Amino acid sequence: MSPVHFEDKCLFCKIIQKKIPSKIVYEDESALAFEDISPQAPVHLLIIPKTHIPRLADINAGDEKQLAHLFTIVRKLAEEKNILESGFRTVINSGEEAGQTVFHLHVHLMGGRAFHWPPG
Ligand code: AMP
Ligand code: ZN
Repeated sequence: MSPVHFEDKCLFCKIIQKKIPSKIVYEDESALAFEDISPQAPVHLLIIPKTHIPRLADINAGDEKQLAHLFTIVRKLAEEKNILESGFRTVINSGEEAGQTVFHLHVHLMGGRAFHWPPG
């Protein structure tokens, strides 16, 4: 019996492997960005590392370059979606109490409407 790997279980790993369809807006060797299936704003994208990191709580020093790379992609996509100057919100939920539902690290990029603070 072959072992079950997290890549076979994780929704976003399946999206990376193109086993589940998604509307991809950016891809390179280490990261992927795609449209959120349940958008909470006119622009709602998810930017993810291709490496399976479950939560922000699980990062370590070796991930610094990868994490910075995700935010460079955020900026690029915000510019492409014309929300760079109007403003945009980035969110990373880490853990259940924060509302994380998919346990593969992702940055939400949202824009195209006004946001409130503090968030709910
Ligand atoms: P979080 O609650 O921070 O873990 O965010 C998970 C996000 O993934 C939610 O905004 C969902 O709408 C989104 N999502 C879940 N399944 C898919 C999918 N198949 N394709 C795109 N986005 C998804
Ligand atoms: Zn994963």
